[in-house]
Amino acid sequence: MSESAVTALRNRADKPGTFAVVTYGCQMNARDGETIASLLTACGLVKADRAEAELLVFNTCCVRDNAERRALGNIRRAAHDKRSRPGMMIAVCGCMAQESGESAGRVFPGADIVFGTHNILRLPEYLLRALDERQPVADIWNEAGSSGDGTIEDAEDIAAEGSVGHKAFVIVMRGCDNFCSYCVVPYVRGRERSRPMDEILRECEGLLAAGVKELTLLGQNVNSYGVGLEGGATFAGLLRAVAGLGAPRVRFMTSHPKDLSDELIATMADVPAVCNHIHLPVQSGSDRVLSLMNRRYNRERYMERVGSLRRAVPDVGITTDLIVGFPGETDADFDDTLSLVEEARFDAAYTFVYSPRAGTKAASMLGRVPEEVSRERIARLIAAQESSTARVFAGLIGSERIVLADEPARRSAGGVSGRIDRGISVTLPGGEDLIGRFVPARIVSAGHNTLRGVILEG
Ligand code: SAH
Ligand code: SF4
Repeated sequence: MSESAVTALRNRADKPGTFAVVTYGCQMNARDGETIASLLTACGLVKADRAEAELLVFNTCCVRDNAERRALGNIRRAAHDKRSRPGMMIAVCGCMAQESGESAGRVFPGADIVFGTHNILRLPEYLLRALDERQPVADIWNEAGSSGDGTIEDAEDIAAEGSVGHKAFVIVMRGCDNFCSYCVVPYVRGRERSRPMDEILRECEGLLAAGVKELTLLGQNVNSYGVGLEGGATFAGLLRAVAGLGAPRVRFMTSHPKDLSDELIATMADVPAVCNHIHLPVQSGSDRVLSLMNRRYNRERYMERVGSLRRAVPDVGITTDLIVGFPGETDADFDDTLSLVEEARFDAAYTFVYSPRAGTKAASMLGRVPEEVSRERIARLIAAQESSTARVFAGLIGSERIVLADEPARRSAGGVSGRIDRGISVTLPGGEDLIGRFVPARIVSAGHNTLRGVILEG
């Protein structure tokens, strides 16, 4: 981050006074959004509501077509509003901006600043240039540069914006080398790179000292953490070290099934602070489709990992991602996915209709599945997962759990919602004074996506 640009902006009377960051997509993007907010706060801008903000930052996602369309619609609307609001500015960043590459300056009409996923820390300079030159600034880097040149890696631990709450995300690695045939992430986030362990631990220590109760370690494939670092660091080793700092709870995501090690499973079993939850995207239950997806595991291997997890951590909650309508997916392939969902007993699943992404291998595969077939499949898949979730929830009724209370409950007035170690959401009666506290509770009933509990004294 360029200190001089930050200082110059602080002293500029003509800069936007307020900003809002609108983030789409994954938690990695959400964490980048926090970094952007911190940078802008350091430059003297004040966070505001999206409807009033003078600088709107669209932090985009391009993993599926519908995320893209939503962002584009909102950017267009903002560009329209800008015409009647002198001084208003628009910035576009994130994966769509990265993907637009050299045409970045043209694909987002109305944007004053366009930057990619590797050069977030340059935002103060871009803002300054846009103010000075009174014309749009677009800068997309093809890859993370070397240290010291303002790449996001240089200041990964820029504090999350505002005061730190009781939960925080810590990025442990960026990028992905897996090239699943449907996925655009390796193209827009670059090659896999792990942050040095001491740097991560320093960031975690700071967050814990500020009162954070739950840390979530983030990466596209945390299981391959340590590749390329000196000293043989592993993700399991990192988890142990973070827990060793005294973190009350540590979570992590995402795990690629092909890299889920026995060492990680043992760490989940042995270290109480490491939560009993794993997000383990399976994508499909058909070996043929898994191979076309380039996932590099088969159904048997996946189920073997699930079995090992359940033996070592009997209370483990496993969640997953599933794609329907991958090119060439037959009824028989889809039935395999349905039967896997039945067999694996997931706590929850994110289900997606396959969305072709330009430049990926699957985009040129034959056997496009008609939209109505995909729609029908996803409806059946959601129903299958709902019965699995209902069975899991029924099994938890009557048990005593510790809930970390997060926020006022959306659907029940006078209640708070939080999560148990296993990651499932629980609503409790009680006021906002509970937020940020570990509350012992008994689970008394189950809703659709949430359990309900009563507070136990003491
Ligand atoms: N790194 C993570 C997830 C990345 S994207 C992992 O490997 O598991 C999150 C999810 O979006 C993926 O797990 C996948 O289910 C879904 N997804 C990615 N590309 C997609 C596409 N082209 N169409 C539909 N779903 C997709
Ligand atoms: Fe995409 Fe596969 Fe990498 Fe996940 S592991 S980000 S799905 S390429």
